[in-house]
Amino acid sequence: MKIAVLPGDGIGPEIVAQAVKVLNALNLGISMTEAPIGGAGYEASGDPLPDATLKLAKESDAVLLGAVGDWKYDKLERHLRPERGLLRIRKELNLFANLRPALLYPELASASTLKPEVVSGLDIMIVRELTGDIYFGQPRGISKLENGEREGVNTMRYNESEIRRIGRVAFDIAMKRNKKVCSVDKANVLEATELWRQVMIELSADYPEVELSHMYVDNAAMQLIRAPKQFDVMVTGNIFGDILSDEASMLTGSIGMLPSASLDENNKGMYEPSHGSAPDIAGKDIANPLATILSVAMMLRYTFNDEANAQRVENAVKKALAQGYRTADIWTEGSTKVGCRAMGDAVVAAL
Ligand code: NAD
Repeated sequence: MKIAVLPGDGIGPEIVAQAVKVLNALNLGISMTEAPIGGAGYEASGDPLPDATLKLAKESDAVLLGAVGDWKYDKLERHLRPERGLLRIRKELNLFANLRPALLYPELASASTLKPEVVSGLDIMIVRELTGDIYFGQPRGISKLENGEREGVNTMRYNESEIRRIGRVAFDIAMKRNKKVCSVDKANVLEATELWRQVMIELSADYPEVELSHMYVDNAAMQLIRAPKQFDVMVTGNIFGDILSDEASMLTGSIGMLPSASLDENNKGMYEPSHGSAPDIAGKDIANPLATILSVAMMLRYTFNDEANAQRVENAVKKALAQGYRTADIWTEGSTKVGCRAMGDAVVAAL
C-alpha cells in the first residue's frame, strides 16, 4: 500500500501530521511519501501542482491531502493559485465520485444549530457526482443577443454511463451501510434528471437488497433540516450535491469533524477534510485534526477495503471524544480543551 501525503498550506501540515501518526500507529506497513501542493507547490517549484507531485499521486494507491490556500496567494494569476492545484489533481486522477458523510457523534449534539433530538446520532452519506452536470456541460457562456441584451447560458447534461457509474458507487456504499439509497433529482422539470431517475431505477435491479427511493431536490433540502435521520445514502448530481452536502455538513455544526473522499472507477481515492486551510489559525496548534483522521478511516474502508481498521480509527475518535477531549472549535463547558497535537495523541492512545 502506497500513499501520497500532500499536506498543502495553512493548517494542512499540522492536521496531516496527526493523521500520519494514526496511520503509523496502526502498523499496516503502508509506505508514505510526502510532496508539496497548493501554495507549498508554488513555493517549491512555481506550480500549485508540481509534475513530481502529480506523478507521485498517480503512482500511489491513495492520496491524503490536508488543504490548500492562503490569502497571500490571492493576487497570483489564476492558473498559479493554490486552488488550481486541487482542481487539477481531481481532474487528472479522474475522481468522479465525491463522498461526504455527515455524522454527528452524540457527545457533540450541542454543537449543532438544530435541536439535539433531531440530529443526535445522525449518519448520512452524500454521494455527489463530481465531473459532469451543469458545471461542465456545453454550450456555456455569456453572449449578446440580437436586441443587444446579454444572455448567460449553462447546460445540464448527463449521459447514461455517467449516471450509472455514480449510481453504482452509491448502491455499493449502501450495501456496506443500512441498504437505503435516496436518489435526488428534479425529474418533474428537468429532462436530464428524468434520465437520472430512469437509470437509477434500472440499476436498482442489480441491488435487490437495497431500498431505492426518489426525492425532488427542493424537498430534499427541506427534509434534511426537518428530519435528517430518515436518510442513509443520498446520491445526486454535481450541482444538487454541491448544495446539499454543504447543508448536510452544517447539521453537525462543526466543520473540523467532517472527512471526505473522492474516488475514481477503481476506488483509488483522494481523502481530505471538508474544510479549508484556515490560515487564521495556522501554526498555533489549535486546529481540529479529527476530520483528517476520519479521512484516513475512509481511505482504509474505500480504497484498502479494510473495514476492521476503518472502524478502529473511528472508534478511537469516539473514545477520545467520550473521554472529554475537545479542540477549541468543538469545546463546551466542562470538557478538556486540547491542541491539535494533543488531540492526535489522544486518538493514538485510544487506538
Ligand atoms: P476554511 O474552511 O479554511 O475556514 C473557515 C473557518 O473554519 C475559519 O474560521 C477556520 O479557522 C475554521 N476552521 C476550518 N478548519 C478548521 C479546523 N480543522 N479546526 C478548527 N477550525 C477550523 O475556509 P476559508 O477561511 O473560507 O478559506 C481559507 C482558505 O482555504 C482559502 O484560501 C480557501 O481558498 C481555502 N480552501 C481550501 C479548501 C481545500 O483545500 N479543500 C476548501 C475550502 C477553502
